[in-house]
Amino acid sequence: MIRQYELVEKVKSYDPDANEDLLNRAYVFSMKAHGTQKRASGDPYFSHPLEVAGILSDMKLDDATIATALLHDTVEDTTATLDEIRKLFGSEVANLVNGVTKLSQIELQSAESKQAENFRKLVLAMSNDIRVLLVKLADRLHNMRTLHHVHSEEKRRRIARETLEIYAPLAERIGIQHFKEELEDLSFKELNSDARESILTRLHFLEQEGGKKIVQDIIDELERIFIEGGIKTRISGRVKSPYSIWRKMHRKNVAFEQLSDIMAFRIVVDTVAECYQTLGIIHSQYMVVPGRFKDYISTPKPNKYQSLHTSVIGPYNQRIEIQIRTQEMHEIAELGVAAHWQYKQGTSKDDQSYQWLRSLLEILENASNPDEFLEHTKLEMFQDQVFCFTPAGDLISLPRGATPIDFAYAIHSEVGNRCVAAKINGRMVPLRTILHNGDQIEILTSKTQIPSPTWERFVVTGKARANIRRFIRSEQRSQFIDLGKSILQKTFQQEGFDFSEKAIGPVLKKFKIETADDLYALVGEGLHTAYEVLRLMHPESTAKPVPSKSTEIPKVAPKKGKTAAAVSIRGLIPGMAVHYAKCCHPLPGDKIVGIVMTGTGVTIHTYDCENLQQYADEHDRWIDVAWDDKGATTEAHMGRLILNVINKPGALASITTIISKLNANISNLKITQRSEAFFEIMIDLEVKGADQLENIMASLRAASIVNSVERARN
Ligand code: MN
Repeated sequence: MIRQYELVEKVKSYDPDANEDLLNRAYVFSMKAHGTQKRASGDPYFSHPLEVAGILSDMKLDDATIATALLHDTVEDTTATLDEIRKLFGSEVANLVNGVTKLSQIELQSAESKQAENFRKLVLAMSNDIRVLLVKLADRLHNMRTLHHVHSEEKRRRIARETLEIYAPLAERIGIQHFKEELEDLSFKELNSDARESILTRLHFLEQEGGKKIVQDIIDELERIFIEGGIKTRISGRVKSPYSIWRKMHRKNVAFEQLSDIMAFRIVVDTVAECYQTLGIIHSQYMVVPGRFKDYISTPKPNKYQSLHTSVIGPYNQRIEIQIRTQEMHEIAELGVAAHWQYKQGTSKDDQSYQWLRSLLEILENASNPDEFLEHTKLEMFQDQVFCFTPAGDLISLPRGATPIDFAYAIHSEVGNRCVAAKINGRMVPLRTILHNGDQIEILTSKTQIPSPTWERFVVTGKARANIRRFIRSEQRSQFIDLGKSILQKTFQQEGFDFSEKAIGPVLKKFKIETADDLYALVGEGLHTAYEVLRLMHPESTAKPVPSKSTEIPKVAPKKGKTAAAVSIRGLIPGMAVHYAKCCHPLPGDKIVGIVMTGTGVTIHTYDCENLQQYADEHDRWIDVAWDDKGATTEAHMGRLILNVINKPGALASITTIISKLNANISNLKITQRSEAFFEIMIDLEVKGADQLENIMASLRAASIVNSVERARN
């Protein structure tokens, strides 16, 4: 087990600027947090994060990554909290630890049946900082190295399969070849140790065949050729991994003896030009196996891998695979993305962390062949999504920008319709909160809740929008029906006729509709007037609607004792059948008049609103309305005042003070005119009703700076 000072010294050896204090504190914190916890092997648990840190320091990763490695299991497995980590180690390390913790949670929650490829993409999407993925891979590598200590065979096999299906391909995807190979080999050992053993035995035999150490002999032979050719090379060779041979046997359905290139050689040279010279020498010395030459120098792989690949019938008549590359290419091939962020002198920390983020995006974005392009577009789609969990751990994917309402509708339309509140990761949040990857969401519902039209403004899924609209349409229709029915009853009563549903047959026919509700809805929506219906049912009626043709501001005529017949107006849902006019802002307590607006229902004006004049000739559209006291809501209404104020310092402040003392909320304030002596302001106030507004107006008039106060009337 690597010691504290050894780890710190190692990091400082490749990054002299590394934050020694951070590393020391992370070491001590993790050791204390894990305390007496033990691994399956019986070792202290702390040995695990320490080994993970060791693996990452071999890859020369930065101090924040190493600290994260030390702390990576503290939030998940000990009493330490993320807030604590943030306070002690800063937000960079805390965000990394949080990322690794979230990845581990999906791992725990994901059903085994989840498709490997989707899961792989999920993991990629969750690692918005690629260092998260590097820590996770190192974590998995150490867990695989110690897998044999896990008692349950079923668990061992599950972990090995997951490693083979998800983590090894991820390591390959981001170009960390040695992670990929070791992860594969360790999984192979668990899943099919017999096959692995027989391949190893066979390889061993081939290597020693004829008493020769064939790999070393081939290296010696190649070196001799290049010395003659005058090129300085570093050559290494090895037999390929048992797992890659096994896979090849599977894919090509060939027996072991027929397998060629079980040996691979790597030639590292100084310059790109020497790569091609080296290739030339090999091709002129040995017979080239057709179709195996690949130039990844001129066309690098998406993970930035560069090399020349070729296969030849080499010395001793063995088919061998050869890779030729420069030292820099070699580092990228070994470390993949990690190579790009190894400590580089002269780059600031900010640049570096920015690089981390960019690189994953580059890997995801740069695709060169059609297959990769396909994968790329799939990944793109994937990046537009967020993955969230139900409290039971079910995965729900939603488009980016989705809210708890979208989540609720994704579970079930009824859950959406009844949604009253949401908790994200245990905390209550507003329903318009944007969801993030890995969030766990709990939806609170109530039987009395109905969807609000305002939801439509922030949902992003079609399902949520369609459900909200459907609900609003049906709600709107039922409001139109109620309103239309009241209008008809009131009009008939006013004109001295009885209104009964039984007598409306001819009207239904005439309007080509089927039910009484259809008729009410038509009247409520303002597509037909109550007087039209009246005249159809009672052709003898000479009833004329209320307002006179006078161009005077019309007064509501049937006032004496008739208020009982007025259509009552109750707490309204915005956007529904009844609207308040924006000109005069009627308030509960005001005398009001309704004007039927075709297609949208009824608009309520104050009886003295100047805009009523334009409806003076359209008598059919007027309806007598009154506030419904019983149904009065506590909802705030908007009242608008026009003030003329003496222009002196502090005037505005005294006005707002008066208003706030009377418990009204100013929702808008605008200076509409200004002269040296006076200025005029428009104030919108949230009030309960006309009385409260009258009170406020009186208090304002009492102020010495106020010249005049009036309600806006047009
Ligand atoms: Mn771990």
